[in-house]
Amino acid sequence: MSVWRPLVGQDAAVEVLSRAVAGQGMSHAWLFTGPPGSGRSNVAVAFAAALQCSEGGCGECPSCRTTLAGSHADVSVMRTEKLSLGVDDIRGLVRASALAPVGERWQIMIIEDADRLTDHSGNALLKAIEEPTPRTVWLLCAPTVEDVLVTIRSRCRQVTLATPTTAMVAEFLIAGGAEPSVAAYAARASQGHIGRAKALAHDEETRSRRREVVQMASRLRSLGDCMTAAASFVDATGEEADAITGAQDARDKAELDAAYGVVERGRRPREYAPALAALEKSNKLRAKRRRLDMIDRGLMDLVSVYRDAIALAFNPQAGLVNEELRPEVAEIAAAASPEVNVRRIDLIFAAREQMLEFNVPPALALEAMMVGLWEAGHRPRGEVERGLGEPA
Ligand SMILES: [Zn+2]
Repeated sequence: MSVWRPLVGQDAAVEVLSRAVAGQGMSHAWLFTGPPGSGRSNVAVAFAAALQCSEGGCGECPSCRTTLAGSHADVSVMRTEKLSLGVDDIRGLVRASALAPVGERWQIMIIEDADRLTDHSGNALLKAIEEPTPRTVWLLCAPTVEDVLVTIRSRCRQVTLATPTTAMVAEFLIAGGAEPSVAAYAARASQGHIGRAKALAHDEETRSRRREVVQMASRLRSLGDCMTAAASFVDATGEEADAITGAQDARDKAELDAAYGVVERGRRPREYAPALAALEKSNKLRAKRRRLDMIDRGLMDLVSVYRDAIALAFNPQAGLVNEELRPEVAEIAAAASPEVNVRRIDLIFAAREQMLEFNVPPALALEAMMVGLWEAGHRPRGEVERGLGEPA
């Protein structure tokens, strides 16, 4: 299977990239931008595989397979769990980028979070991008072009990824073996996020966790309900995050043990303990970031319910993201005006900002948010629209 096949809805980008692989419009620095879930890093990796492959990305040869698996000797991937990319991280990558490739083709450096470059680390990178070694290619990824330092982005060829349509996602899931009805549901509920769509299509637990979150919107009937909802929101999203990180942590530990020749009950080399401590520290950061990512996703699921309610208020036949919850959505639409539901969406975004930007503990931010969502439907209308914060 060609390396481009799994890139759902990215035909325009694939067209540009496969031309570059064939020698038309190749550049030494690329910037891939697109919303979360559009698959920025997957596109970058597929492009890297196509560049290393003598067939332009067959997906089958050792070059393609090792690149896709993350073990190609001439493809380095920099990803971080930290909030910014430090100058030391970048210097190491810049040094490696100057080496001639082991193979015959390219030395490829992928930076997954180019939006996390600081002025300092950006400067360290800038020189490498300005005066590239002939066989070196930089592939940078970020949510939007504006997230990347202007000095860096102005030297990159930019590729903007699209959000795939519901129909494209459903088709992709069906091709992967999903039942058509499940595929349709997963495509709608994922709102264009491919990884999420796959999880929803193939994992009943992911579906039930999502159901739990979106149903909260119709269950906030007392202060007690709000507290319960906040707690189960933290639990549901935490479980999902831990399911993913748990498997990764075990893999990392096995790799570390193998690298240090550690066997059960065997002797540990002196360097092992600090390496293990460093791994555990970075895994902790990763777990924290993944939990926040999952909370963020849960919040967007909740937003989709209120957006559905607004759509229904204007058109009873409107297609809904949460089609399976139509009766509940109708109830929310009947009980609160579109203005109230807009205000609720604002409250969700405010909670999100508190957690992601200001490090407010999720449990606290979510409790306040749930109470706000409930109150919004119970205060006199004028008061809600003016956005007064005093509880009734
Ligand atoms: Zn190949």
